Amino acid sequence: MSTMNTVGRPTTPNQVETRPATLTGGRGLLQNEALIFEGDGWGKTGVDLPEPKGDASDLGDLVRKDPIGLPGLSEPEAMRHYVRLSQKNHAIDLAIYPLGSCTMKHNPRLNEKMARLPGFSDIHPLQPQSTVQGALELMDQLAHWLKTLTGMPAVALSPKAGAHGELCGLMAIRAAHEASGEHEKRRKVLVPTSAHGTNPATAAFVGYTVVEVAQTDDGRVDVADLASKLGDDVAAIMVTNPNTCGLFERDILEISRLTHEAGAYFYCDGANFNAIVGRVRPGDLGVDAMHINLHKTFSTPHGGGGPGAGPVVLSEALAPFAPAPWVVSDGDGFRLIEREEEDAAQAFGRLCAFQGQMGMYVRALSYMMSHGSDGLRQVAEDAVLNANYIKARLSDLMSAAFPEGPCMHEALFDDEWLKGTDVTTLDFAKAMIDEGFHPMTMYFPLVVHGAMLIEPTETESKAELDRFIEAMRALATAAKAGDVDRFKGAPFHAPMKRLDETRAARAPKLRWTAPEGSNLAAE
Ligand SMILES: *Cc1c(COP(=O)(O)O)cnc(C)c1O
Repeated sequence: MSTMNTVGRPTTPNQVETRPATLTGGRGLLQNEALIFEGDGWGKTGVDLPEPKGDASDLGDLVRKDPIGLPGLSEPEAMRHYVRLSQKNHAIDLAIYPLGSCTMKHNPRLNEKMARLPGFSDIHPLQPQSTVQGALELMDQLAHWLKTLTGMPAVALSPKAGAHGELCGLMAIRAAHEASGEHEKRRKVLVPTSAHGTNPATAAFVGYTVVEVAQTDDGRVDVADLASKLGDDVAAIMVTNPNTCGLFERDILEISRLTHEAGAYFYCDGANFNAIVGRVRPGDLGVDAMHINLHKTFSTPHGGGGPGAGPVVLSEALAPFAPAPWVVSDGDGFRLIEREEEDAAQAFGRLCAFQGQMGMYVRALSYMMSHGSDGLRQVAEDAVLNANYIKARLSDLMSAAFPEGPCMHEALFDDEWLKGTDVTTLDFAKAMIDEGFHPMTMYFPLVVHGAMLIEPTETESKAELDRFIEAMRALATAAKAGDVDRFKGAPFHAPMKRLDETRAARAPKLRWTAPEGSNLAAE
């Protein structure tokens, strides 16, 4: 393990604890950084504009009278502030980002170059359509390839994330049941226990009652349980495929047959499309609606809450209810259908003010076109190969949650192998940070005890995978050898230690307030 340490770094946590904290809070060429509000920017500004001439405003009484309450920084100060903050964080450009269910892959610079072309980046959604023909054509092409790759006849591009796509899909399903007069009796949505939390949340948000479907011992939907719960009171099922245990639902055709037989729709959570893109077309599996996280499968940077894009492909039955807007092309070029009339008479409405995330559309299409159809198929194959390599190389030390057979694009372990070590999944993940590795997804899916869900994606080389695997093996060996101190207080080397994540989620501080007695708030 010594080779994994930066030269001069202490090799055991105990040695670290006996070292004095630094005098300034900085460490290893990285200075401590306060909040931007805590600096001395209150009396200055980073810009120098001439005073406006004449009457400054037409706003009358609405003119702001108090200072705006933002600190000012010079350009170099602003640069340093944000670069210092960025260095406290992890990035896919630094190392593997093995978060399961997130598909954190390398973002080719070509995508960025394309997204920054002025014809894409400098346009406004209210521009006349005749002046943005290229952008509309790009949306039309992206829609074409999403339909082709999924084998589905329609796509709604505008949803801004996977969860927003789920909302879109369920609203289309509700609209379809309303149109056929069945909405009042179909009040339930069936969701497997292993589902991502957004699935039941979306169903509840749309007004449905969520009914859980059991899982089999081998990590798949329990078809008998599903069949027993399907009936004329069910609006839809929401099934993730490959599922959140990283396994392909072998009975998917039977699942969709039973669902349709009961008059319900099949919503597929397509967040794991990376594992099957170019190999399996969800349309062939009987899917009625599926979101595609462009920011997962088709690269495009994400994390920290955005940006994202979650287009939803729709079956023939649901297509008429797709939300506006969408692009059509006729002899005169491309135009947006924006109103609920004519072809769009049954559209359930709009999901957002404009057309969705243009920058993500450009990046996703750029990713598709630079890979080509054979390249996209290889994406899925390599993603699955990489996950199986990790599973195979760690299974002697760690317990695979579903040891039988290969996995798809994610390797899932439980905490059975940590029994008796006094080390938990959380401790193990925090010790990974000390070794320079971002942890995998922990404690999800909920159906696996102490879950560790590792998703390498296709963009990791064998050398990078081996580096990750060696670190995992070294830590696993240390845990089994009783080196508990290494884990209990970890991370020792990170700028932040263990945070109260529950409190951060339940009682987030979203606003800076001036300290008591300071005159800043009054300014
Ligand atoms: C990521 C993910 C989602 C939600 O997607 P967002 O883009 O984060 O809203 C839903 N389901 C699964 C299985 C996911 O992995």
